[in-house]
This record gives sequence, C-alpha cells and structure tokens, in this order.
Amino acid sequence: MEEKRFPEFKPELCMYCAGCVAVCPALALNLNETKLELNKEKCIKCLACTKICPVGALR
Ligand code: SF4
Ligand code: SF4
Repeated sequence: MEEKRFPEFKPELCMYCAGCVAVCPALALNLNETKLELNKEKCIKCLACTKICPVGALR
C-alpha cells in the first residue's frame, strides 16, 4: 500500500492563485502575500490541493 504523504510545495512555480486554499477540506493551507504555508497538524494528506493546482506547484 502506498504510504500517504504531505504535499510537496514548490514556491518557484506558485502563482498564488489560492485555488489550493479553496479546495483544502482541512483548512490546512494558508496563503499570504509572499508564501503558502502548510499546517502539518491539520493536513489529512488527501492531496486534493495537488490536483487543483494549475501549475504543478503542489505535488
Ligand atoms: S493534502 Fe489535502 S488536507 Fe493537506 S493541504 Fe492538501 S488539500 Fe489540504
Ligand atoms: S493552487 Fe498552486 S499556484 Fe495556486 S496558490 Fe496553490 S500552489 Fe500556488
């Protein structure tokens, strides 16, 4: 069985559209003007954010 993992964030690709923040069911993503933060205490590793990201900044 594949082990669940946290999404990996590539800041150099991110265009800060906030799409991932909107789909996260656990409210684990926070976006501010300069960065996207993942709250590992909240993240349930569903990887919905990786599917919505239009530029592959979350994998
Ligand atoms: S993997 Fe799921 S819970 Fe974790 S940040 Fe992405 S959308 Fe939110
Ligand atoms: S969906 Fe992708 S490009 Fe948009 S804010 Fe999230 S990580 Fe950045």
